[in-house]
Amino acid sequence: MQKTILIIEDELTIVDILKFHLEREGYAVHSSGNGLKGLRMAAELNPDLILLDIMLPGIDGFEVCKRIREQGSQVPVIMITARQEESDKVLGLELGADDYVTKPFASLKELSARIKANIRRNAALSASDDGALKRGNLVINTNSMEVKKDGKTLELSQKEYDLLAFFAKNPNRVFTREELMEKVWNYEYYGDARTVDVTIRRLREKAEDNPAEPKLILTKRGTGYLLSDG
Ligand code: CA
Repeated sequence: MQKTILIIEDELTIVDILKFHLEREGYAVHSSGNGLKGLRMAAELNPDLILLDIMLPGIDGFEVCKRIREQGSQVPVIMITARQEESDKVLGLELGADDYVTKPFASLKELSARIKANIRRNAALSASDDGALKRGNLVINTNSMEVKKDGKTLELSQKEYDLLAFFAKNPNRVFTREELMEKVWNYEYYGDARTVDVTIRRLREKAEDNPAEPKLILTKRGTGYLLSDG
């Protein structure tokens, strides 16, 4: 089946080079020169891989990558960085990018090899887990929205599930109550961060072996909460 690649890059000469090369290799190629539009296209097209520039109009490539991951997408993302910007590479990988290439491209052959390797790796991953995220002794299936603990299905409310799935997609990252209100509740109950505490407590009662000593959903004192991946 033909694979689809989305290029988010505002330098037209680079888009042209990539498009020409990748179409010749048999890919269906779409492109956007704007971060926000690129993000929308990523959701609509569900591409097999995204080539993502950093400096973009709208929102930058780092933010695009972060939001793609927050939406739960596992699509391989290869960041396009300018040469010698080591810190950009590190930040990109931390925000969920899978790989990076430097421009101008020394070798389109190498780029092709990277693209192939990343698509293959992701296909292998999704075939094996089928949308399931394993965190501790929980398996969170983001397709069926079902959570199992040691093989037994947990009865979770919608918000408990939303919160857990959000954490599972962003393991080992501390979120403040305000951030969780924004990301999980979309400010539905804005102003009452205790809603977060209550939902966390209920989630612990259902998901933790000993809710009084949580091992999975941890409190970072004075800051917020995180899901431990350990
Ligand atoms: Ca750019």
